[in-house]
Amino acid sequence: PLAAVGLHKSFTTGRIETPVLRGLSLAIEPGELTLVVGPSGCGKSTLLAALGGLMRPDAGRILAGDRDLTQLSDRALDRFRLESCGFVFQGFNLFPALNALEQVMLPLGHAGLDRQEALSRAVDCLQRVGLAERSHLRPMELSGGEKQRVAVARALAKRPALLFADEPTSALDKRNGHAVGELLRACAHEDGATVLCVSHDPRLIDLADRVVAMEDGLIQSDTIRVDAPPSQEGLPS
Ligand code: ATP
Ligand code: MG
Repeated sequence: PLAAVGLHKSFTTGRIETPVLRGLSLAIEPGELTLVVGPSGCGKSTLLAALGGLMRPDAGRILAGDRDLTQLSDRALDRFRLESCGFVFQGFNLFPALNALEQVMLPLGHAGLDRQEALSRAVDCLQRVGLAERSHLRPMELSGGEKQRVAVARALAKRPALLFADEPTSALDKRNGHAVGELLRACAHEDGATVLCVSHDPRLIDLADRVVAMEDGLIQSDTIRVDAPPSQEGLPS
């Protein structure tokens, strides 16, 4: 499991220090789709960044298996992130100069896959998000929802043990939103990944195994859902 223990993080702008995580503890499990909900500014994206090794907390521990991420060197933390983590960022974070296929292939190259394997995985993942026909287009040429689906494909293609998705369906219509939800769920249920997703999307809440509510930098409630329904709809073609 991946666990945060007593995480604290503050941001200082000018002379004002704002606490964002205030001693938060949370353990998430492989094979589960865990959703984080909570008001804007409560620290959801900050929590994902800390758990995924993108940001160091001020205090507390982050346990990934038998390792404490807060004790790792910068280099070891980078390696952990490269090998184990996939991210779908809230702002998508696509590279302006790369087409969709190249966006998805790039991290696979960094993870050490050879070009042929990277290409076939990238093609497969773009197809899963319904973008097979648009893989030659750059971000400027893609709609908001298409960009978001490229970001999802990029994270999935790595087959990460830990997948962090920050509002991954915010720009998607009903059908694509549901399809992305199913992909995240399959990542957990079929591939055994630990999937942590920030979302207020009812389609995702329906598919989640567990819903964690945050407020003011702390976990306010934690609900295990036992009635997550099986898939109803297919993937977009
Ligand atoms: P939203 O639902 O709007 O995405 P959130 O719960 O994801 O909100 P965070 O992005 O975690 O919220 O931000 C929590 C607070 O921390 C916000 O008030 C934000 O302004 C502040 N914050 C986040 N990152 C930084 C930063 N790098 N520097 C300064 N302040 C930051
Ligand atoms: Mg956020």
